[in-house]
Amino acid sequence: APAASAKALTKTYGTGDTQVHALRDVSVEFERGEFTAIMGPSGSGKSTLMHCLAGLDSATSGTVTIGDTELTNLTDKQMTGLRRDRIGFVFQSFNLVPTLTALENITLPLDIAGREPDQQWLDTVVDRLGLRDRLDHRPSELSGGQQQRVACARALAGRPDIVFGDEPTGNLDSRSSGEVLGILRAAADEFDQTVVIVTHDPRAASFADRVVFLADGAVIDHLANPTAETVL
Ligand code: ADP
Ligand code: ADP
Repeated sequence: APAASAKALTKTYGTGDTQVHALRDVSVEFERGEFTAIMGPSGSGKSTLMHCLAGLDSATSGTVTIGDTELTNLTDKQMTGLRRDRIGFVFQSFNLVPTLTALENITLPLDIAGREPDQQWLDTVVDRLGLRDRLDHRPSELSGGQQQRVACARALAGRPDIVFGDEPTGNLDSRSSGEVLGILRAAADEFDQTVVIVTHDPRAASFADRVVFLADGAVIDHLANPTAETVL
């Protein structure tokens, strides 16, 4: 079975004349260890699709399945548990806790879940993201790029089955974005994690195994083994 899938997903905002069809009958599957980039014009439904897949938003109709769990069948409490245990999310706005250090932010989800970090993986993530000498700093003492890398490390720390990224390199310079994309690639290659990002950046998409193109709430194309040139 795929690691995650959406089947006949629709999402409609508003009613009557002001209705917006953010998703129209979207079906897509994500395999274990696969890194997918979702691309498309602004307003095409990328964020809505990812939020529905990650259980942050509910669809109007259709189903989302994570592993063998269909999200529509879950209670709020079960949903929270599934997100905590199996899903990592890198937000566009980093959502770091200002009073905690970088390291405390990174391990916060694990602490909340009462889980011990896998120290070797944590070291790998911290080193590859160039955060080793920033672990004691609070978010206000970090650059935007460093904050985004902390947010990325936090999403990966618990080795979730699936990692979602909403423009994870959106605010980063070329070096930082290379580090973020490299660790996401490693998560997929070395740990069989499923990675799904929304991006406008052709270079970011070139790190993915495939690109799913959305337009006007529908999947209009798939591209395997993208390069920065072929996604344009
Ligand atoms: P993208 O991520 O591709 O920019 P979105 O998923 O954010 O697209 O939005 C898809 C469509 O749904 C857009 O027309 C957007 O304006 C609309 N939309 C998104 N969120 C809401 C909302 N909370 N209320 C009303 N309309 C929304
Ligand atoms: P992006 O293009 O990166 O998806 P947006 O600016 O479209 O970002 O959306 C940012 C947030 O605003 C999202 O959470 C989305 O759900 C919400 N949003 C987008 N369009 C609308 C809208 N027309 N009405 C209300 N909320 C919206």
